[in-house]
Amino acid sequence: MQDRPTPAKLQTYKAYIDGKWCDADNGKTFQSFDPYTGEPWALIPECGAAEVDRAVNAAYRAFESPAWANMTQTARGRLLRRIAQNIEKHSEHLAQIEVRDNGKLISEMAAQTKYLPEWFYYYGGLADKITGTVVPVDKPDHFTYTLREPVGVCGFIIPWNSPLMLVGWKLAPALAAGCTVVIKPSEYTSASLLEFIKLVIEPLDLPPGVINVVTGYGAATGEPLVTHPKVAKIAFTGGSTTGARVGALAAQTFKKVSLELGGKSPNIVFDDCVIDDAVNGAISGIFAATGQTCIAGSRLLVQESIHEKFMAKLIATAKTAKLGNPMSYDTQVGPVTTPPQHQKILSYIDIAKGEGAKCVLGGGPAGPEMGGGRYFVQPTIFDGVTNKMRIAQEEVFGPVLSVIKFKDEAEAVQIANDVIYGLGSGVWTQSVRRATQMARKIRAGTVWVNTYRAVSFTMPFGGYKASGLGRENGLDAINEYLQTKSVWINTGSNAGNPFVMKTSSNT
Ligand code: NAD
Repeated sequence: MQDRPTPAKLQTYKAYIDGKWCDADNGKTFQSFDPYTGEPWALIPECGAAEVDRAVNAAYRAFESPAWANMTQTARGRLLRRIAQNIEKHSEHLAQIEVRDNGKLISEMAAQTKYLPEWFYYYGGLADKITGTVVPVDKPDHFTYTLREPVGVCGFIIPWNSPLMLVGWKLAPALAAGCTVVIKPSEYTSASLLEFIKLVIEPLDLPPGVINVVTGYGAATGEPLVTHPKVAKIAFTGGSTTGARVGALAAQTFKKVSLELGGKSPNIVFDDCVIDDAVNGAISGIFAATGQTCIAGSRLLVQESIHEKFMAKLIATAKTAKLGNPMSYDTQVGPVTTPPQHQKILSYIDIAKGEGAKCVLGGGPAGPEMGGGRYFVQPTIFDGVTNKMRIAQEEVFGPVLSVIKFKDEAEAVQIANDVIYGLGSGVWTQSVRRATQMARKIRAGTVWVNTYRAVSFTMPFGGYKASGLGRENGLDAINEYLQTKSVWINTGSNAGNPFVMKTSSNT
């Protein structure tokens, strides 16, 4: 590992509230670390309830202001397309900030920031196609129609693994719908969003308060956002335990909520697959992004008739993974993003060994002699896992693969669905019958057949069961930021019994 020098001076960032850059009211800051060197590189304001309150009030004023509320849907669409163009200009820089802060590979982060403009083009195009409907009501002389209106101020809470992409998935539909927003990034990765505001959003001269960023910790900054009475909707991405708390808190003030949570996704390999493709799919499902992805294919279900042959190829390919500096385009596995996450992964490796799973690759930290460093973990494969083991049931969020054997389709479905989660899943087969049957029977928000970890702005994304509520991306996502109003106009006389509800067809 090539150490970078400790920066003499840390880069200082500010929060963004009501169109202005500001420090925390009490001047407090916290450090952001580079996961590759383990050294601090940036100082971030430690905001709390007071700053959240100012940001929400600014977003509320902006939501009601003529400059935003009267902007036509077509003009909002144009605005989103300008956001897309600004991201295109700065995508490489934004990717580098992501890598600096979360240690994921530049090849993955640059691909994400290059792709991100598509969300703003797509929802920019959708902005003036959001329509209500004229409803044929069962009463004479009534003109009845619906309006689809923005819900109001939205609070976004973002994790550290793909910060800008996960902001974009929320921001593009929210702005297209006409909402205003307050965003709380992860305390581990605040910098890329603040750079995004500076480079992409500020040049647009939006009415102040349409987009605000409050930085800080989960309980001190996230909770005041979730409980604030003027916030109408929370879009949260993070762990399932946090998500359950966020959902419960948001319910107290009747907020609309979407939750994108954790997973323990099954990647299922049948004996009629193209083995080389399935091996690549298994590897990209767990070792890409150092396993730090909600859709990691962390349970590899292999049909017993090809188990031996498949494992030999899988291990041979996984062994070639090149660990190293995530800023290099040829690195294949980078560091783990946070020290607690590093500890958690290593403890799960111990748990799996204790449970009797057979470690067939890796199984510990990866030091400089392996191309790694302080926060690296070796790509690890456990064979002989049973679905009852903790390593098969709990989200590790690291480069640790559990291999489970199955006999037939019925057993594959039973194992695949026997977890609390339901986010992603993969099926490797050449049979159309098998693929479509499996796609119907797996209880997960996404089923990939002969591919893995593909996402698009056009395709809804979200979880079943403990993996979440609501959908991001595609046409579905716009509904997360809208509410429906019914308008009744009586075009006839007002006759009828004033003491009786107008329920029957002729009243
Ligand atoms: P986390 O739940 O610890 O934190 C996520 C965010 O919530 C952070 O900004 C954090 O500060 C905030 N937070 C923490 N406690 C809070 C509270 N009490 N009230 C309000 N906000 C609070 O998750 P993480 O460790 O940052 O991210 C990893 C998790 O995210 C994994 O479980 C992963 O599967 C999940 N994830 C899911 C998706 C998806 O789309 N389904 C995508 C990426 C990550």
